[in-house]
Amino acid sequence: MLWIAPAAALAVLWLWFLARGRAPGAVKRLAFRATLAALVVGLLLLAGRRGLFERSSLGFQLAVGAAMLAVVVGYLYTTRFCPQCGYMVRNLKASACPRCGALLTRHGMTAALHRRGDDLLRAEVLPGRAARTRMRR
Ligand SMILES: [Zn+2]
Repeated sequence: MLWIAPAAALAVLWLWFLARGRAPGAVKRLAFRATLAALVVGLLLLAGRRGLFERSSLGFQLAVGAAMLAVVVGYLYTTRFCPQCGYMVRNLKASACPRCGALLTRHGMTAALHRRGDDLLRAEVLPGRAARTRMRR
C-alpha cells in the first residue's frame, strides 16, 4: 500500500501536464488517447479479476461495453488541444485557444480548424445572443 501515494501524485502530475503543460497539440492528443485506452484496459482487467464477467450475461457485458464506449467517445469529442501550445480546451464553443489565441479544431475528433468569422456567422444566426454579447463588452 506504500505505492498508492506516489502513484496518485504521478497521476495528478500527468493530468496537470495533459491539461496545462506546453507541448505540440498532436503529441498531447496522442498522450490523451493513450491515457483513455489505458484507463479502459485497466478497468476491464480489474473487473475481470474481480469476476464481473464470469457469471454475467452477454447482454450485461454488451451494456458495460457500450457505456464505456459512450464515455470514451464523449471525451474524445469534447476534449481539444491547442495545436500551437497544447492547452486543453473542453469548451466546444471556443474557436480559439484562451492561452495563445491559435485557432482550435471544430471538435476533438477532427483536424479541421475553426475558420475566422465562425463566431460572426453564429451571431447572425442568433441575433439575440449576439446583442447580449455586445452589451457585455
Ligand atoms: Zn494555445
